[in-house]
Amino acid sequence: MTKFSLAVHGGAGTILKENLTPELEVQYHNGLRTALEAGQAVLAKGGSALDAVTAAVCALEDEPLFNAGRGAVFTTEGVQEMDAAVMDGATRKAGTVGGIFGPRNPVRAARAVMENTDHIMLIGPNALKVAKDAGLPFEEAPYFFTQARWDALQSTLKMRAAGIEDDDPARRHGTVGAVACDANGNLAAATSTGGMTAKAPGRIGDTPLIGAGTFADNETCAVSGTGHGEVFIRFTAAAEIAARMRHAGQSLEQAARHVVDIDLGQNDGSGGVIAVDAKGNITLPFNCEGMYRGSVTQDGDFQTFIYR
Ligand code: ASP
Repeated sequence: MTKFSLAVHGGAGTILKENLTPELEVQYHNGLRTALEAGQAVLAKGGSALDAVTAAVCALEDEPLFNAGRGAVFTTEGVQEMDAAVMDGATRKAGTVGGIFGPRNPVRAARAVMENTDHIMLIGPNALKVAKDAGLPFEEAPYFFTQARWDALQSTLKMRAAGIEDDDPARRHGTVGAVACDANGNLAAATSTGGMTAKAPGRIGDTPLIGAGTFADNETCAVSGTGHGEVFIRFTAAAEIAARMRHAGQSLEQAARHVVDIDLGQNDGSGGVIAVDAKGNITLPFNCEGMYRGSVTQDGDFQTFIYR
């Protein structure tokens, strides 16, 4: 039996340190811890990595502090459009949804696409129908709304109109994700996001693009990314980490570091990833000020971090 392990993230591009009150700091750590506990409970019972990442991401989607599910950011039109993905490293099956609104847990909608259709990615009314047919709970707009995200949209639009560069990553970024290695050495990844504040309607980021923001393959690693999605897509960030391990014999740590620091870091791709390999090794690199993140291993060692 392999030792199981699990990592989660609540987005790179954290709130600026000077704006983080001690109360808020505790809330962020608690949110990450709750997600780790949800996933760890699955793994401790001998459950699959796939179920563990789904449970962990659901917990993060339910927490309004993070930009996914409840608390998702708004487009320029003031609506929420959510992307999510799940991938099973044992079978390389995957399911994703793009630009949806309604299911309480978009990651479960992605999983329904994986399990109940012949396709990988669904958008529009049929993505919602697949979620409905799977019996998933739906919510109305007030459930997903948070004043903080609404205010972030207003200030971003104001800055844009004034031609001012937005320098607060907390306003632009956010996403949640989980990667796990279960006791059988199976890997899985899941990612969910509202995208970027004041994104164009219809914009899809890296999160639901397999190989960009989400990837899992038992032979190499499981990865969930967060950051400037367009750059993650252009550099196929998650798949590139796996490719470096597979073809160049790099360790998980070396491969992830290279992609985050060089491929993304030198190309305006601020962000980070969480990744795990089939031995249960975990790495959590990022190239910006902070990334809400945490991990737990079989020995019950829970750790959560925000800054370096
Ligand atoms: N990667 C996400 C996106 O571009 C946003 C983020 O992780 O901050 O949609």
